[in-house]
Amino acid sequence: MKPPLFDYASPETIADAVSALSSNPGAMVLAGGQSLVPAMNFRLASPSVLVDLQRIPGLDTISIDDGVIRVGAMVRHRDLELDDAVNAVHPLIREVMAHVAHVPIRNRGTVVGSLCHADAAAEMPLLLVLTDGAVKAVGPKGERIIAARDLFQFHMTTTRDADEIVTEAHFPVPGTGAGLAFDEFARRHGDYAIAAIGALIEKNGDGTVSRAALAACGIGDRPTRLAASEAALTGTRLDDADLEAAVRAARDEITAPDDMHATNAYRKHLTGALIKRVVAAAAARAK
Ligand SMILES: Cc1cc2nc3c(=O)[nH]c(=O)nc-3n(C[C@H](O)[C@H](O)[C@H](O)COP(=O)(O)OP(=O)(O)OC[C@H]3O[C@@H](n4cnc5c(N)ncnc54)[C@H](O)[C@@H]3O)c2cc1C
Repeated sequence: MKPPLFDYASPETIADAVSALSSNPGAMVLAGGQSLVPAMNFRLASPSVLVDLQRIPGLDTISIDDGVIRVGAMVRHRDLELDDAVNAVHPLIREVMAHVAHVPIRNRGTVVGSLCHADAAAEMPLLLVLTDGAVKAVGPKGERIIAARDLFQFHMTTTRDADEIVTEAHFPVPGTGAGLAFDEFARRHGDYAIAAIGALIEKNGDGTVSRAALAACGIGDRPTRLAASEAALTGTRLDDADLEAAVRAARDEITAPDDMHATNAYRKHLTGALIKRVVAAAAARAK
């Protein structure tokens, strides 16, 4: 299929890009095009104008300041994946990225584009939610920070206004001593997850869990923190019974209905298996 007719804008400043969005109802941002262009070809998206961010300088930088990894809007997945400074302080990013599509798609697709696309089964939104990250959005009324917990509304929908551009994603650097792990089940490598779990575990000196963060994707209409499972693990030594309690506590969060990929019951099963595996891996990495 070919896309429907659209106009094209290639601004050189954020202000001009915001102006192109706010003055053209139905205009959409184009970043790497790896999700938007297929959607247009399938006639699932019909933007009046594509506002291409490619020529705006300064959007392709990665920096680490004050314990936060700042990822510009035009940083490709692959740039973040291969950044050794990022890997030194947050190795889970590289591990998670290996599950995002395939190298040619990661060469073009952007990290921020993935967050804005907000597929409920996508890995980078899960990572942002797991680590309490945020994005910076710029619109006609100025700029604002949107916390990950407030960003994802439901499948492919965020709280970003239509005339706002997300200029940066902020991934907090995990504390020293924190152990992080991630795993997913997908039918083929590179597909979106049928279910995925990320975990962050911090321990007290006596080996009990001082902090547990668990996030999931693929199991509902957005990436979700598993608060009841986190509570079930906190203060424990992660014995088998503690892990079973965390699995039981997660069941209510698995709201995805039966679909062509999996039944709700199968997602419940997968989520339980992944929680046990990922929490054990994160705990083994916690110092
Ligand atoms: C075959 C295939 C397999 C894939 N598998 C996976 C997978 O397993 N996991 C996964 O997470 N992703 C997967 N993807 C998606 C891929 O990661 C995309 O690159 C990513 O989701 C979108 O990034 P993009 O830069 O290409 O965004 P685009 O396609 O350019 O944009 C996507 C959406 O976000 C909006 N947008 C983009 N940037 C901004 C911004 N800065 N401000 C405001 N709005 C913005 C656009 O308007 C559009 O609505 C797959 C894609 C393909 C084609």
